[in-house]
Amino acid sequence: MFQKTYILDDSLAPDEMDRIIAADPHYKSCSACLMQVYEPICDPEFISYRMQLQREILPNANIVGMTTLGPVGPETEVPRDPMVTVVYFEESGFDIHLFDCHNIDPREAGKRLCEAIASTEHVEGVLLLTADAMLSPTPFIEELEAQYPDISVFGAQAGTAVLGNDQSMVFTSSEICTRGILAVVFHGENLHITTDYNLGWQPIGREMTITEMGDDGFVKTIDHEIATDVYQKYLDVELDDAFYANVCAFPLLTPSGNRLIARVPTRFSEDGAMQFPAMLAQGSKVTLSYTKPDYLLRNTLASANAMAQFAPQAIMLFACINRRVYMGNERADREFSYYRHFCPDLSFAYGFGEILRTPEGGELLNSTIVAAALREGDVPEGFAAEEYADPELSSDGTTYKPLSDRLVTFLEATTAELNATIDELERLAQRDQLTGIYNRRHVDEIIEQRLSKHRRRNDQGLALLMYDIDHFKQVNDTFGHEMGDIVLKELTRRVQEVVRDDDVIGRWGGEEFLIIANNATLEQAEELAERVRQHVEATPFPHVGKVTISIGVTCAKAADTGSTLFGRVDRALYEAKDSGRNCVKTCF
Ligand code: GH3
Ligand code: MG
Ligand code: MG
Repeated sequence: MFQKTYILDDSLAPDEMDRIIAADPHYKSCSACLMQVYEPICDPEFISYRMQLQREILPNANIVGMTTLGPVGPETEVPRDPMVTVVYFEESGFDIHLFDCHNIDPREAGKRLCEAIASTEHVEGVLLLTADAMLSPTPFIEELEAQYPDISVFGAQAGTAVLGNDQSMVFTSSEICTRGILAVVFHGENLHITTDYNLGWQPIGREMTITEMGDDGFVKTIDHEIATDVYQKYLDVELDDAFYANVCAFPLLTPSGNRLIARVPTRFSEDGAMQFPAMLAQGSKVTLSYTKPDYLLRNTLASANAMAQFAPQAIMLFACINRRVYMGNERADREFSYYRHFCPDLSFAYGFGEILRTPEGGELLNSTIVAAALREGDVPEGFAAEEYADPELSSDGTTYKPLSDRLVTFLEATTAELNATIDELERLAQRDQLTGIYNRRHVDEIIEQRLSKHRRRNDQGLALLMYDIDHFKQVNDTFGHEMGDIVLKELTRRVQEVVRDDDVIGRWGGEEFLIIANNATLEQAEELAERVRQHVEATPFPHVGKVTISIGVTCAKAADTGSTLFGRVDRALYEAKDSGRNCVKTCF
């Protein structure tokens, strides 16, 4: 396999290029020749002219093409000239299928493709180019996935020269389609395809749920609030012309299989609904996300280095313009250069969305670079691609960092500190200050949880023990309150020595405590109570001498609520006190 890329600028006319290709020895000897055409001009006449030239000059080649995005803003440089990438296969092949979706829906198209390739052996991957930004390829991909769960489907939604005026097209050597799906099915016994997916955005803030979708596919509410409030509340973004530019660095992330995929809003309505190029469904979980150029570049560099080990003979990249808008032209070019380093003639294109479906998840994506690498035959014996390092990325930290990078670092650092504080507050809110064991509030919560579990799975015993120090008032009166506190701590330490790790001890009130024992019968709970009682009594407390406790024991029944359970254990404890203290009593 051999890949060669041409740019049709002022110095290279289409017919000239075709003649150069015709004279290329690869063209003469190949088993199949794929001409990918990425066309930023969106002019059907020019496309038709080039199709005709190809049919005349390069009859053994096949065009698959799509229109690409024009500039989204004055500062964003996208290719202005068509890119033609020729891939010569030595022994493998491909089949091209174009489905015009004016007549059939994508699901039906997916079924037809599966029928058409049912007898094709060694299908290794499918390149998908689609036209009409409002046409979701997802049902098509689902049909394909059902038949071919292990292969990768990769590609892009075609872009358009003028944003807001979708004139996207996909085309072959003989047809142009403004609403359709173009599938290139690659097959061959010795053909290998690997794909990767670079996102680099990270979730931030709390998880939210899409709570209402409109019939038009707009997301109306998120967590029952107007959808655009997400961007107004957290990012102070207004609903005006700058909406897209303001939100593009903060896509929503939603899980797909093992992956997180990004969704960037492309339009909003006056009532605050948002449209996304790829459908989000009611019930989808979303979080805001953020990144910094460094994350994007590092992520892509790692992925490119991993792909180099595959020894690619051809690479196709499909990228989101979002990255270029956010990172700037220089860094966006640098990102491509990580792949170019080992595959100089790779192809790349900007469309409305990237497509990647693998067994790990995905489908129609935003904000990513999707990379597909192709190779015929095995990786050469002893091959090891040298790791590529970007000197600008491995800087020693003394270089100037942009304000936004420093603010993101600030955000990450303060978020980490806040989370640590929240964890600590949660811990404190559950603990008794004096003894460090759980407090009444938390013990109450645990009992309610265990009771509801117990109701569902009645087979496992749930026992409750309540103990209270005998004549503790005298300890305080004789030795002082501080000494009383020391006794409470020492008592707790002793009880902890006796109970199992998964038993829970809590302080119920002044000198009253609870033990919650899982998987314990009433008998086992009584034994535990007796062990605890004896262990406390056995050794005199420093200064104070012998301290004893009385214990009440009960077990949960199916019909128990928290209060019936506490009622019984309280009665059992009262009985123990009534029977002369320093003993265990049970109440069924
Ligand atoms: P009984 O055997 O009937 O339980 O007698 P008692 O004296 O232990 O019971 P009573 O309810 O009369 O007294 C409980 C005492 O526990 C009174 C209170 O001052 C003391 N106490 C409660 N909380 C604390 C505490 O945090 N520290 C100290 N030192 N004493 C406490
Ligand atoms: Mg007491
Ligand atoms: Mg008491």
